Amino acid sequence: MTGLPRVGTGTDVHPIEAGRPCWLAGLEWPGADGCAGHSDGDVVAHALTDAVLSAAGMGDIGGLLGTDDPRWAGARGADVLVHVREVLHAAGWQVGNASVQLIGNSPKIGPRRGEAEAVLTAALGAPVSLTATTTDGLGLTGRGEGRAAIATALVVRTGESGADAAQPGAPAP
Ligand code: MG
Repeated sequence: MTGLPRVGTGTDVHPIEAGRPCWLAGLEWPGADGCAGHSDGDVVAHALTDAVLSAAGMGDIGGLLGTDDPRWAGARGADVLVHVREVLHAAGWQVGNASVQLIGNSPKIGPRRGEAEAVLTAALGAPVSLTATTTDGLGLTGRGEGRAAIATALVVRTGESGADAAQPGAPAP
């Protein structure tokens, strides 16, 4: 590893769609309505993806996957995380760790936190912490209209592959 670690943030919001299977934090949540979206609507996985891409200076999830690429229709959040990990590795980056917070009324994360963290950690290849909060009935998440997630990730340089990988410490172009 060379240079200092770099941090990035990511956010995602999706509307809840009644009757859609709920995939969140890499798990299916029976009994909860899922989120609408081109992929599986996993706001936790998508916020994490944006955070690691931002940390590496490699854009965002829209640039990684495209917003309507048929290859990612219905894609699982964990598969998106595996993909972003591979893209980062190819560019000479490795995720150090990541933290993500779900904002929403449902599902209750606590009982399955360990299970979700294990899936996210395996997909990203680095420790992922998952927390959750509500907004006390305020806003789109409080009214149950949608879910949001905010993530922070740290990446470290592992190599010099990837011609367009950002160099830590280099002056801005
Ligand atoms: Mg999304």
